[in-house]
Amino acid sequence: MFLRICHLYPDLMNIYGDRGNVIALQKRSQWRGIETEVIQATVGRSYDFRQFDIVFFGGAQDKEQKLVCADLQSASQELQTRQGDSLRMAVEDGAVVLGICGGYQLLGEYFRTGEGEVLPGLGIFDAYTVAGNRRMIGDVVVESPFFPGAPQKTLVGFENHSGQTFLRNGLQPIGRAVIGNGNNGQDRFEGAVYKNAFGSYLHGSLLPKNPWFADLLIERALERKYGDKVELASLEDDLEILAHDSASKRAATRPRLAT
Ligand code: GLN
Repeated sequence: MFLRICHLYPDLMNIYGDRGNVIALQKRSQWRGIETEVIQATVGRSYDFRQFDIVFFGGAQDKEQKLVCADLQSASQELQTRQGDSLRMAVEDGAVVLGICGGYQLLGEYFRTGEGEVLPGLGIFDAYTVAGNRRMIGDVVVESPFFPGAPQKTLVGFENHSGQTFLRNGLQPIGRAVIGNGNNGQDRFEGAVYKNAFGSYLHGSLLPKNPWFADLLIERALERKYGDKVELASLEDDLEILAHDSASKRAATRPRLAT
C-alpha cells in the first residue's frame, strides 16, 4: 500500500513543530509497511489536490496567512479553477486533510484580522474566524468521541492564537476543550470536522503525542484509496503515551475556564 502526502506551504506555514505531523504520518505508515511519498507544495504552483491521499496545512501568523490566502484564491491555469477550489474538491472527494491553527482558519469561510482585513477562506468548514483582543496560549486537553479504542481518551496540544473560530449550522467539532480555550474560549468546542477534513488549534506537534489521531487519518486515507475497511496493526506506543501524559499533566496546571 502507498500514501501520497502533501505538505502544504511548509516554508510559510510551519510553527510550533507542525512539521512533526507529517513525520508522524510518514513514520506510522512506514512502520506498518505502507510506503509514503511527501510532496512539499508552495506558492505559485498548481496542484490537483485530488491526487493526494492526505494534505497537511500547518499554522503561521497573519503575515504568512495573507500570502498563502492570496495563493489559494489565485487562478490555476491548468485546473481552470482557483487553487483553493482544487483543495475543496479534494475534500468533497474524500481526501484526508488536517489544518492546524492558521491553516485551519483558512479552511473556514474567512478570517478577519485584528486590523479588520478579511482573508477569504476555502469554505470547507462552515465556520468563520475573527481576531479577538487577547491571545489564547497554553496547553490544551480535548475530550473527543473520535478515538473510542485509544489507550488515552484525550487529545493534547499547545495553542497560541488570537483568532476565535465559530462553527455554524451544527458543524461537528473534534471535541470539547476541558483545559484551554480551543476554538474561541467561549463554547468549549475544539476543532472542526467535515467529511475527512479536520481542523484544530493544537500545535505541539499534535500527531506524535496523539498517535490515535494519526492512525485515524491514515485509516481514512487508506479506506478512501483502497475501498476496504482498514484495521491498522498496532504499534508500540509507550513513548508516545508518555509524551501525551506529560503534556496532559502540564495542562492540568493551567487555570480552568468556568464550565
Ligand atoms: N494568526 C492566527 C491567530 O493568531 C494563527 C496563529 C497560529 O497559526 N498559531 O489567530
